[in-house]
Amino acid sequence: MKIEPITETMKVVSVWTLTPMDKPLDYLAGREIAIGDVVLVPFGKRDILGVVWREVDREDISKLKSVISKSELPPLQNSFCSFVEKMAEYTLSPLGQILKMGLRVPDPIAQKNYFLKALNEDVALTPKQAQLRSWLLENAEHGTDPKIISGFSRAIMNGLVERGGAEWVDPIEANARPQLDRKNMMLSDEQQNAVDAVSVSTKPVLLKGITGSGKTEVYFEAVAGALREERQALIMLPEIALTDRFIARCSERFGISPGHWHSDMGVTARRDVWNGVANGKVPIVIGARSALFLPYQNLGLIVVDEEHDTAFKQEEGVIYHGRDMAVLRGHFENANVLLASATPSVESLQNAQSGRYELVELKERFGEAVLPKIRVSDMRDAGLNASSWIGPELVAEMKKRLQLGEQSLLFLNRRGFAPLTICRACGHQLGCPNCDARLVEHRARGRLQCHQCGFEELLPKACPECEVEDKLAPIGPGVERLAEEVAEHFPDARILVLSSDLVQGEKRLKQEINAIMNGEYDIIVGTQMVAKGHNFSNLTLVGIVDADIGLEGGDLRAAERSFQLLRQVTGRAGRAEKPGLALVQSYQPDHALLNAILRQDDEAFYALEIRGREQAMAPPFSRFIAVIISSPDLNEAVQIGRDMVSNSQSLQSAGMRIFGPAIAPISRIRGRSRVRILVKMPKNLALHKLVQDWRSATKKSSKAKITLDVDPQSFF
Ligand code: ADP
Ligand code: ZN
Repeated sequence: MKIEPITETMKVVSVWTLTPMDKPLDYLAGREIAIGDVVLVPFGKRDILGVVWREVDREDISKLKSVISKSELPPLQNSFCSFVEKMAEYTLSPLGQILKMGLRVPDPIAQKNYFLKALNEDVALTPKQAQLRSWLLENAEHGTDPKIISGFSRAIMNGLVERGGAEWVDPIEANARPQLDRKNMMLSDEQQNAVDAVSVSTKPVLLKGITGSGKTEVYFEAVAGALREERQALIMLPEIALTDRFIARCSERFGISPGHWHSDMGVTARRDVWNGVANGKVPIVIGARSALFLPYQNLGLIVVDEEHDTAFKQEEGVIYHGRDMAVLRGHFENANVLLASATPSVESLQNAQSGRYELVELKERFGEAVLPKIRVSDMRDAGLNASSWIGPELVAEMKKRLQLGEQSLLFLNRRGFAPLTICRACGHQLGCPNCDARLVEHRARGRLQCHQCGFEELLPKACPECEVEDKLAPIGPGVERLAEEVAEHFPDARILVLSSDLVQGEKRLKQEINAIMNGEYDIIVGTQMVAKGHNFSNLTLVGIVDADIGLEGGDLRAAERSFQLLRQVTGRAGRAEKPGLALVQSYQPDHALLNAILRQDDEAFYALEIRGREQAMAPPFSRFIAVIISSPDLNEAVQIGRDMVSNSQSLQSAGMRIFGPAIAPISRIRGRSRVRILVKMPKNLALHKLVQDWRSATKKSSKAKITLDVDPQSFF
């Protein structure tokens, strides 16, 4: 029988399915199906979603299946498709997996989440209801998400609605009319200059300004600029835990609630925001890196707050850096991009110096905040025994704070009680059965834990190796152990230990932060969790317990990370009226980096660091691609690594250099052995395709996995 030619009513389209496949598939489709449409297609035994990428001219259509139907989702825009294509090419990831991140939208019949909006009627209210109504009138003229109203229960909200003092409104409608003009604040010249730079620059703008220099006001003004042009604005934040306050501030500024997007949200909110972004009714989005993949109708601005933060790097699934992809998306959307930080990444600063980004600085500070005094405490003179970590100088300063009724913070970036447990009889170190990692004692929970895979067990009585009892001893400090030492010095002080494993959940963290603000604690002992963005006005002493951790971590960004972290932590001291002191304990106080931090000399730090990278031809002066080969069988992983290196001629003749294979620093995670190869390439080389082909050509069993990490941030 003769096969029908493609008729007037049928065509062939190439569809990227939302799968890890490395190429699109052809399907027959009706004329009404257009490029960018989200469609349902048969795929093996299932029906799955895909996106129509282009029309194809092909003769042989006998084996083609047909598109089943067009989904109710709006078609994807050209600019978004171009972005996804470029991102797939850059990150060496399957395009369909990236599309999948953009189409994480739940089914449309889920229930709606309503906003509370005050009504100015003359009705009788209880005092609490009246209070809520005035709060709403003042802060959320057009209504707000009840979840971000604090201090009022649901019962009070419902009561207020029943009495006619407020109503529930559709959040999308509530979002309709943002208030664009600033209410009562004049921007400084520096700030205005930054705002202007964002609106006129055709390049991304890097905004460097210490905490309190007014960066957030610059973002808001830039957002207002985008909204005036009827375009949308996205502000990306690194930490979900900090967003509530930011959202409240944004609502106050614009009189509307911004759309909030992150990976951990409920079905209703997800659907509302996704649709509102797609139809343009949500003008402002505040979100985590995943907000970058929303289907904006007309995106005019992307702000990346704390652009140096490692939380923007996604390390699983599609591996990408949210900041870099923000720059890419901004390019395709023709949107302004603003990257901001007090301590920019070396990459971004270098991009500014080479002219790819435009650098704008804020040097003034608002309010009475002053930079803390920083003093080093030379631990070589401290005379501490092997199981104490708080030197006499720090103890003396803490004592002063206690007498004055002020707060102290001790910072140590190590969770748990002790990072290592060793048998004093045989020398055995307790390790994880699944990973090449030591078990960390968490005494508060009475357990040992692996910080790689989460494996947990009770602290054994006898050594698992030599079976001698009561000889297992903790070595080195974690925050829990440090807190014990604090309690020995100050038995009456109220001490709080703050670390991610102790404070589980956002809500609990907020409670603890509030308790600190309310003066319920005298001394806080914490990990890097305390470093981020909180403002404690009565906190006047920060003790860095061990500034030497991380000064030379051996990894590319160890120095940069320490600089950023120490900067942030020391910035916690004396942020309000009371000037603070940061006391930095170190056994190598003459270290160049430490000195740059002590002198608060950023330029010296960046100059040192950038020169070092250039001499080593390390990023940002070259590009790294990390290859991570993992398998349950170490021998297989090693063999694959060797094969890849011996088959890398095409890469080498193109100017790339191959290092490895080497067993990874953490040689096993979750029962899988790991081998790494590092590819170094000149920055201007766009040879990602070669690397991809190299991977595809490698033979391996189905149990083994080869992951490519472009611009790796972690090297373990
Ligand atoms: P950053 O984001 O850099 O930490 P913020 O934007 O939060 O700084 O500003 C710090 C404080 O100074 C805030 O309380 C803010 O309201 C205030 N502020 C910022 N800009 C101005 C200005 N132009 N005039 C008066 N106060 C300002
Ligand atoms: Zn483990």
